[in-house]
Amino acid sequence: MKNSPLLIFFLAAALILSACSGSRSLTPAASLPAPQVLVSSEAPDANPTSPTITAPSTAETPAAPTAQTPRPLMLPAPENRTHYKLNLILNYYTQYAVVDETITYTNRSSQPFSELTVVVPPKYYPGSFSLRGLTDSSGSPISGWQEDGVRFTIPLQTPLTPGESTSLNFSYQLNLPKKEGTFGVSGRQTNLMNWYPYIPPYEEGTGWIIHPQQVENNMVVGEYMVTEMADFDVSLQLTDRQELIEVAASAPAEEKNGVRHYHLELARGFSFSVSDSYFEHEITQDGVRIHSYVFMEAREAGKAVTEIAAQALKLFGELYFPYPREMISIVAADFLHNMEMDGMVMISYGVFDFYNKTPKTNLTILTPHEISHQWFYSMVGNDQAKEPWLDEALATYHEVLYYQTYQPDLVQWWWNNRIDGFAPKGYVNSDIYVTGGYPAYRDAVYLRGAQFLQELRDLIGDEAFFAALKDYALTNTYKLASGEDFFAAIARHSQQDLSPLLAKYFRN
Ligand SMILES: [Zn+2]
Repeated sequence: MKNSPLLIFFLAAALILSACSGSRSLTPAASLPAPQVLVSSEAPDANPTSPTITAPSTAETPAAPTAQTPRPLMLPAPENRTHYKLNLILNYYTQYAVVDETITYTNRSSQPFSELTVVVPPKYYPGSFSLRGLTDSSGSPISGWQEDGVRFTIPLQTPLTPGESTSLNFSYQLNLPKKEGTFGVSGRQTNLMNWYPYIPPYEEGTGWIIHPQQVENNMVVGEYMVTEMADFDVSLQLTDRQELIEVAASAPAEEKNGVRHYHLELARGFSFSVSDSYFEHEITQDGVRIHSYVFMEAREAGKAVTEIAAQALKLFGELYFPYPREMISIVAADFLHNMEMDGMVMISYGVFDFYNKTPKTNLTILTPHEISHQWFYSMVGNDQAKEPWLDEALATYHEVLYYQTYQPDLVQWWWNNRIDGFAPKGYVNSDIYVTGGYPAYRDAVYLRGAQFLQELRDLIGDEAFFAALKDYALTNTYKLASGEDFFAAIARHSQQDLSPLLAKYFRN
């Protein structure tokens, strides 16, 4: 197949369809012809029939704007959560920031801590993080702390006993790397994800949960960070002419005296995307503000994405529980992958640029994927390095749940083009360090993951499948779920023997 429409589609798909992960050094998608997303007779045959979903409502346009406020989740939230107070002063044009950060941390383990571990993700970018001061809760400078890559070990003057709280204050400068991605600066955008020191989860018996970033063939593979539910009070002061610059964030802002203030509870992180080139569009559905930020050439797609997101939020809200936040920000990424964050998703500009005003388009495939991460990543956490399938296989499968609900005629097209055309191989429970780098990781975790979930559903039936997924979501919201938690939820709703299926898709 040389330059066939299908091959071209696959190439484009390989570059940008593979959501939520790094493919940072690839050829710009814009240099490829726009994909002709037609199913050709050359398409590898896909097996799955086109099942329909029983649980959610059938196709309909999003509800008219309402003035309701999102319902808070009636689930017990973790107590004594870590609190991050982050005061950020940023100059967009010089790509320079100063930050004052206070972490208030409670020891929720059963043993005293004589030191705390802090992860400083910007340390992965040489020269971008300069510590100016580190003090304890009394304001005294801390000495004797040790640095090992991104990991800081900070001694405590007196051990922190179980249930006791303390705080650390960091003062630092960020020289944002000139590197397109979720932390750095490109021609049109400054992104701040994983930009501040954080305290990782502590697990009894295991210790602090920290994994190294995985880079292979100059590409970042998957996500390495594991974070727990925390609360955020963040302020942002721009030192540029404010009227030129727009800020997308994980939460809505309140502006006072030229400073934006944000408050976000029960989130795994707080992110910003700043640009002087955004075009914005907002709709409201069921009290949730769905706000898009795109570049000039994608204004129509910027409107369309809010409608697709509204449909996805409605569907997943019915399957699990309503999206519990006031706002979701959907941001065109000035790079060639997509990324989920709390309260915010970034979708590659290439996906917006290729929007063809039909549902046979990457924007319609990937928006539901990224939106579903608000449930599976944000609300229900998991170890993204060791068990990435728990969020990525589910997110990929939520793409077809979207099509089954709103575009049932395109379900087979989705299987052919998104999954089966790649003839994926690998174990669904591969980690991000899998041999073969990004393509092997995507094939095993995302694509085989979706095939596995479909076969699981076929085996146990729609009723048990959707009941178990909802059970899994409700039981594990605010937590870090594991594969064991997933299969425990399945077992609560089906007595089917899963061993042949597990032998086919899972290692061990
Ligand atoms: Zn994803």
